[in-house]
Amino acid sequence: MPGRRKEPPGPGPDGARPSASAIRDRPARPRPGIRRRKGWRDRTQGQLSGAVHARNSAISPMRPLAIRRDMKPFGPPRVNRGLNTRQAMTVICWFRRVLRLDDHPALAAAAKNGAVIALAILDPADAAAHPASAQRQAMALPPLDAGLRARGSRLIVRRGDPATVLAQVVRDSGAVAVHTSQGLPFAGDDGLQAAVAGAGAVLHVHPLADLVPRGSVLTGSGTRFKVFTPFWRALRRTPIAEPLPAPRLTAPPAWPASDGPDWPEARRAMDRGWDVVARHVRAGEDAALDQLEAFLNRITARYAEGRNRPADDDATSGLSDALAVGEISARRIWHRAMAAQQDGQGGIEDFLRELAWRDFARDLFHASPNIDRTCWRPEWNDFPWRGDGPDAEAWRRGRTGIAMVDAGMRELFATGRMHNRVRMIAASFLVKHLMIDWRVGLDWFARCLTDWDAANNAMNWQWVAGCGPDASPFFRVFNPDTQGTKFDARRRYRDLWLDPDAVGAQEFADAAPRSWRVDPHDRLAPMVDLDTGRQRALDAYGRFKRRDRAAR
Ligand SMILES: Cc1cc2nc3c(=O)[nH]c(=O)nc-3n(C[C@H](O)[C@H](O)[C@H](O)COP(=O)(O)OP(=O)(O)OC[C@H]3O[C@@H](n4cnc5c(N)ncnc54)[C@H](O)[C@@H]3O)c2cc1C
Repeated sequence: MPGRRKEPPGPGPDGARPSASAIRDRPARPRPGIRRRKGWRDRTQGQLSGAVHARNSAISPMRPLAIRRDMKPFGPPRVNRGLNTRQAMTVICWFRRVLRLDDHPALAAAAKNGAVIALAILDPADAAAHPASAQRQAMALPPLDAGLRARGSRLIVRRGDPATVLAQVVRDSGAVAVHTSQGLPFAGDDGLQAAVAGAGAVLHVHPLADLVPRGSVLTGSGTRFKVFTPFWRALRRTPIAEPLPAPRLTAPPAWPASDGPDWPEARRAMDRGWDVVARHVRAGEDAALDQLEAFLNRITARYAEGRNRPADDDATSGLSDALAVGEISARRIWHRAMAAQQDGQGGIEDFLRELAWRDFARDLFHASPNIDRTCWRPEWNDFPWRGDGPDAEAWRRGRTGIAMVDAGMRELFATGRMHNRVRMIAASFLVKHLMIDWRVGLDWFARCLTDWDAANNAMNWQWVAGCGPDASPFFRVFNPDTQGTKFDARRRYRDLWLDPDAVGAQEFADAAPRSWRVDPHDRLAPMVDLDTGRQRALDAYGRFKRRDRAAR
């Protein structure tokens, strides 16, 4: 096929894509066109990440990371014996929602600067606000520990407030530096900096391995994009930095104590059958890389259409939870997908476009750190939203009597995920037919999603509610029944979650708290007539618009 190009390691003799370890452990290989371009490294890695650091610089910025093209694939000998005295000082790498060895800028920098203590922190505030995502992180820790042990290292897990834990581990180990990744939201790390400095070390915060550094894709006049399509076009023209290979690690002279990866507080906070949700999780970096390769093997030109059909499990990558806990990097996905495209695989361009939404959401969050709390269009803060109450509770429990909505809410509760199309339908029903504040829905998703991502969740809720940048206009009200007919024509998805004898309905009954008294045989009448609810929303919108115009 014209334009076909194989990248090592290429498909195996049976045509399958390479294994996780083959991908992760190979040396970085930039695309030839990019490697040869003069000054490329400075533009994509140096200057831009330096600018990001400067903007977030409550924290002492690290010198920009250069991609190490000389890095060798990881393999025996397991322990790096080549470090000089300066490098042999102990440093901590705090794995902060970047739970992988591959393409991990903070880990690469730590490994360059000393003997590494790999640290994960289980933060009780995280467990309280986002228990499913917290528990999903806990599931990523044993595979991460195994990966580290295979390299002569290990994972130290501590429970507690991150600032307190970091200071304690610095004191316990005599570490001179802590390397970590930016957290979301992007601001607000001042307490960490002071705590680490107080314990006698320096905190270095490294950019996330997103497709592009935050704020680097700008309009011709140097401002942020507010609309996705031009952002996507500009991003598509930008060289995406190559992923960093997993670095060699040197063991410190002694290991600090570890609390272990179990996180009962997160499971308790979930208030539902975690074992049911866990069946739907494939944790670990290797699993994520394998999942990516399997998806790239099966993706076709019909991805854009298939991704809207909720009964079709295989139509999308299913990687959002692995991305959310950092088991795989967006850059790694990008470059593997580009290689698949060069191998002639269809649908890749549409897939990359979806992946770019994640970067767009992060850019918005970077520019507006309150986007998860206040309407991006400020006038919408005065919209007469209804608050939390029995109607919102019926929505949360999948008891609205509207089949697509209830099926989606049950999927969310039992699996920790919900199909993207159904997220839009369920969210739209809440904010339009029920006129309930989008933040009520956002908070519930944040509690329940194993793929919870502060930026993606906020951007998408504001998109549905019509108050975000590039949002779907409020007057465009999804009819959940029509959406069901269009995207679940044979009712396979609705039946899975609503038919009392179906596996999904039974899983939901198992996962739900007893206090919900779920009876799979309940037949629920719609809590609102869809036409009436739609008209009520449009009338409220009309009054709101007239008031808004009069106020200007
Ligand atoms: C109301 C609402 C809330 C959402 N909350 C979250 C959230 O908390 N976390 C989250 O990761 N996604 C969220 N999404 C986006 C989307 O539903 C999921 O990313 C998607 O279901 C992931 O499935 P996949 O990995 O199989 O997608 P694929 O089609 O395989 O896409 C690949 C990747 O692209 C990114 N992506 C795809 N669609 C979107 C999108 N609309 N916005 C941003 N990134 C996208 C994701 O990282 C995804 O893993 C939300 C969507 C809505 C409508």
